[in-house]
Amino acid sequence: MNNFTFLKEPSILSQGNYFQIITRIKLLDETIIRSNDAEEVLTYHYKTLGNRFIIPWRKVKGKLRRLVQEQQRGLCIHPDCHLKDDLCMDCPTCFMFGGTGETSKVNVKYNILSRILGETFISETEVGNVTSLTENAVDEETLMTGQALMSIITVPKETSFLGVITLKDPTKEMARIILDNLNRLTRIGARSVEWGRCSTEIVGIRTGDRETLTAYDLVGKAGTDIPDLKIPSSFELPETKDAFPKLNKQVKEQLGQLQKK
Ligand SMILES: [Zn+2]
Repeated sequence: MNNFTFLKEPSILSQGNYFQIITRIKLLDETIIRSNDAEEVLTYHYKTLGNRFIIPWRKVKGKLRRLVQEQQRGLCIHPDCHLKDDLCMDCPTCFMFGGTGETSKVNVKYNILSRILGETFISETEVGNVTSLTENAVDEETLMTGQALMSIITVPKETSFLGVITLKDPTKEMARIILDNLNRLTRIGARSVEWGRCSTEIVGIRTGDRETLTAYDLVGKAGTDIPDLKIPSSFELPETKDAFPKLNKQVKEQLGQLQKK
């Protein structure tokens, strides 16, 4: 089963090609992955997997987007585009990660759907002892310590997580940019002032006309071989510094047509 082709140019409408990247994030430090926010879940109980630490996808996606944007800026492509309200809606990063036109400063009529789909990252081992500290909450703007107490939970170092990041209808340029930046992901955490170090490993890639991999299944089958996996170097991808300008030109052509509608 391999009805997969890299698109020659990015497409607004999906053509059903999936490039699934199995990614392992391993914490090198004790890491705070939960802040005081109620929606920040640290552990989750799965019926078959037991208690596991989890990293929400939006946290990984947010970090990845910032890395891609940073690299793009370094190549002088839309250097002003940034999260969260100043998206340009016209650059490779916006095209791949998505954006809402009317809430961006440029106020365009179109929205861009994300072409990078993810899921919750699940720890490969069950949760053992959790260290919980209580400290004064820090005001986000001034970084001053206030009176409110917050409880801080850390994940032990060397905890590793598995997740699947799926690129929908990628060109070779898009695949290169994302793979390169996954390798640049070296810190993760709930609070930017205390990001923990981590290492990121691309376990393998599976391509096809559907999504066939999930972290849930992979974690459950720990130690067993996963069939049909490829390594990044088997795809003959362009270099990142060439991928960005080419994608930038192509994205403008695609989005330019939307503008005229
Ligand atoms: Zn942009």
